Amino acid sequence: MPAAANDLPALAARLVAAAEGLARAEDLRGVRVLLRADLNVPLTPDGAVADDSRIRATLPALQMLAAKGARVALASHLGRPDADADAGGRPAAWRARHSLAPVAAELRAHLPGDSFAGLAPDCVGPAAAAAVGALKDGQVLLLENLRLHAGEAANDAAFAAQLAALADVYVGDAFGVMHRAQASVTAVPALMPHRYPGPLVARELSNYLATMVHPRRPLGVAMGGAKVKDKIGVLRELIARADVLVVGGRMAYTFLAALGVSVGRTQIEQEWLEPARKMVDAAKARGVKLLLPTDVLVSESLDAPVATRIVPLTRSCCTPEAPCIPPGSFGVDIGPATAAAYAEALEACETLFWNGPMGRFEVPEFGGGTNALIAAVTAATKRGAATCIGGGDSLAAFAHAGPGAAVGFASTGGGASLELLEGAAMPGLRALDSPAAPAALVAAAPAPAAAAAAQ
Ligand code: ADP
Ligand code: MG
Repeated sequence: MPAAANDLPALAARLVAAAEGLARAEDLRGVRVLLRADLNVPLTPDGAVADDSRIRATLPALQMLAAKGARVALASHLGRPDADADAGGRPAAWRARHSLAPVAAELRAHLPGDSFAGLAPDCVGPAAAAAVGALKDGQVLLLENLRLHAGEAANDAAFAAQLAALADVYVGDAFGVMHRAQASVTAVPALMPHRYPGPLVARELSNYLATMVHPRRPLGVAMGGAKVKDKIGVLRELIARADVLVVGGRMAYTFLAALGVSVGRTQIEQEWLEPARKMVDAAKARGVKLLLPTDVLVSESLDAPVATRIVPLTRSCCTPEAPCIPPGSFGVDIGPATAAAYAEALEACETLFWNGPMGRFEVPEFGGGTNALIAAVTAATKRGAATCIGGGDSLAAFAHAGPGAAVGFASTGGGASLELLEGAAMPGLRALDSPAAPAALVAAAPAPAAAAAAQ
């Protein structure tokens, strides 16, 4: 277990309390707030917002701050402009291509009346300062894409100082980037005496405390998805905490191969065979109920159902001469017996966490196992269990399942959620930890005149 793991629960609890302190502050009129959010939305090929979940996830912070009368400068990154930067300079077309303008258009639709002050042409410098200076109480200004400046990803101190100069108070609500040491996430809050976690971060941390640190037991976990490599740290951590762990998705085949099963053309991770075997042993030693597939759906193509059939995994699968998964086939989903066993094992749990699809669910015929898991999560939620799902593809599968599906908490954190779980360093959360008592905020905040003069 990483050394940092031990203090994350205590840090999370302090940050949840700090966020509550900010929520209690009654009057923030005249106070300039820099709100770092995660508005890194996917765009369609013609540049429109393809999925506005992250914008909607930021609205509670915006509405709370605007209702208190704060003057909000909203900052975010979008995409990877650096991957597309012209070697010989940064022309206007490049700036336009990576602009937050599509996000600004969505924000305007969500924020009432004149409470949205528009998109500033830059996130730092005279144009940004002038736009922030013109804000009225309760207004929100969107700053242009942070990553148009190389200093953001490079965690540059001078760039951070420019951003910090724009505001009196920092609110960090970009949970999805809390595992990254980048200027607006770590260096800026360190420069600001008043720094708070926002409501989205507080919800993610409360959920982490409720499901992983102080779970009602039994704690059941379903892990799936593409690679053991992506989730090894979390798997190790979960084996130390969970009562029930079921494994599906492509990663399950690395476990199966480690136990001697012939997996046909299914891609496995050679370097994780030994760690997988050790995890199975560790689960046994700790008394964790670890379930692996006992039957799988196979197909000769990954992209369409070709010669599909359900294959039971028996002892004979252990011989290359009589493999259960034919050499020309891929394992594309868990089978029905496995899905039923997983649902039954999870049914007994009071707390449930699911990350990673059970199969290649993008092909509808290969989505049966993932849908069975969604049904199990829904049933658990309805009978009062604490339930949580995370992972971009898992959330997509869940959204696709329609309005009947239910979960207690859907974590939008992606990689950040996994790193929190495995006890990684989480520099963005550490940067928000502040010795200043939350109650001091209003008294210590400059009056409107002082705020203006400070620019
Ligand atoms: P999440 O985004 O929810 O964390 P991952 O990114 O780890 O999930 O994995 C999702 C991907 O794994 C999906 O694209 C899915 O098609 C793929 N996948 C799951 N099971 C299989 C399988 N048996 N064979 C091939 N791909 C699979
Ligand atoms: Mg994914």
